[in-house]
Amino acid sequence: MKKLFIETYGCQMNFADSEVVASILKEMYSLTKDIQEADLILINTCSIRDKAEQRIHKRLKELEAYKRKKRTMQVGLLGCMAERMKEELLQTEPVLDFIAGPDAYRSLPQLIADSQHGHTSFNVLLSKEETYDNIMPVRYDANGVSAFVSIMRGCNNFCSYCVVPYTRGRERSRSPKTILGEIEDLLKDNYKEVTLLGQNVNSYYWKEEGQEVSFAKLMAMVAEMSPELRVRFATSHPKDLSDELIETIARYDNICKCIHLPVQSGSDRMLKLMNRHYDSAWYLERIAAIRRYMPDCSITTDVIAGFCTETEEEHQMTLEMFRKVRYDYAYMFKFSMRPNTYAEKHLHDDVTEEVKTRRLEEIIALQGQIALENNRKEIGKEYEVLVEGESHRSKERLFGRNSQNKVIVFERHEVQPGQYVKVKVVDCTAATLLGELCTQ
Ligand code: SAM
Ligand code: SF4
Repeated sequence: MKKLFIETYGCQMNFADSEVVASILKEMYSLTKDIQEADLILINTCSIRDKAEQRIHKRLKELEAYKRKKRTMQVGLLGCMAERMKEELLQTEPVLDFIAGPDAYRSLPQLIADSQHGHTSFNVLLSKEETYDNIMPVRYDANGVSAFVSIMRGCNNFCSYCVVPYTRGRERSRSPKTILGEIEDLLKDNYKEVTLLGQNVNSYYWKEEGQEVSFAKLMAMVAEMSPELRVRFATSHPKDLSDELIETIARYDNICKCIHLPVQSGSDRMLKLMNRHYDSAWYLERIAAIRRYMPDCSITTDVIAGFCTETEEEHQMTLEMFRKVRYDYAYMFKFSMRPNTYAEKHLHDDVTEEVKTRRLEEIIALQGQIALENNRKEIGKEYEVLVEGESHRSKERLFGRNSQNKVIVFERHEVQPGQYVKVKVVDCTAATLLGELCTQ
């Protein structure tokens, strides 16, 4: 059998998509981790920021050397960059034999065949229906404990800075039946945790034969499959975070107490320009609602520093938001103007690179301090930890996560990955908790 090497960039959705791609091609190729022996290299790409795209252009240049050594090798580019740049990429990147957008993976066998016959081929059609519903992903890089399950695709929100609605198309949900079927198979394979994935999971909606399934209902259905199964989800939009969903998370012990709620900015003027459909008061009310139902729930976020016309005062409002919410973790970015977005067409990217960098550094410094203070409060507490594997630093230690998604490292003793164990927190850094195994 020919050999396939897949390299994935970007968000968890992309990693889940690569597993779908591996499944579509499994009759034609076996997977390899050694790029040198590959007959086909697929690069699954991300367009979210300019830096992400630059990294991929650089990687494509490196691939030219592999192709020179092995003339029959094919290289295909998948994902958001394929969708954003379309055929232009085939002209500017001669290493590429074909490209496929996020809704075109079923046509990969055809694209590969066409390019083998000397045609450069592409399919970047977006679909209103495609969810790869009936495809069982090949979990080639999984740890055997925790898996991602894609429950919807696309996004209808059109945040003014964001390229995703253009690269991944309109929102569409997958049928509960095939989602539950996929999780059933994971349970049979002894998986202990699933993360339900979508760009905007809480707008999940399915209707069939008069039966409606909301995201909260779907979460409950998954949680009831087994008390041994932990359920997580990413990412939720603040405007769709209903009380019904918060109540559902609170009601089930096995739905993890961690909500990723991207804030993006603490300034109402910025939030409006970003087209986020909430203001800071609404956001803080949602945080209060989470804390009302689940005082122990961890909250994490995404934030953008230096969006168009952001003033110093507005940046201070973001810092203030961080002080108020006290996030356990944050993904923090400098604004990067993306072609064809509303921001590119109508707003001015007038915050200098220097100021963006300084603002981002201030947010990172504050968040580091808050995360450390939050973690210090964990010392002395006991948590149920799902063990995921060996610690990167030492074979004598294992790591796992508590329900709040905090990483806890502890001495291994007789414990195996996939087990639930009780661990007492004895020390911490800003990123990790250090624990001791409790004797039962
Ligand atoms: N759908 C999710 C949401 O709305 O939170 C995640 C979308 S995106 C893959 C992840 C994060 O990238 C966003 O939450 C935002 O903070 C950031 N992002 C998106 N576009 C950006 C841009 N043009 N510049 C900088 N950061 C950006
Ligand atoms: Fe992008 Fe906004 Fe959609 Fe998230 S919700 S993917 S930030 S447009």
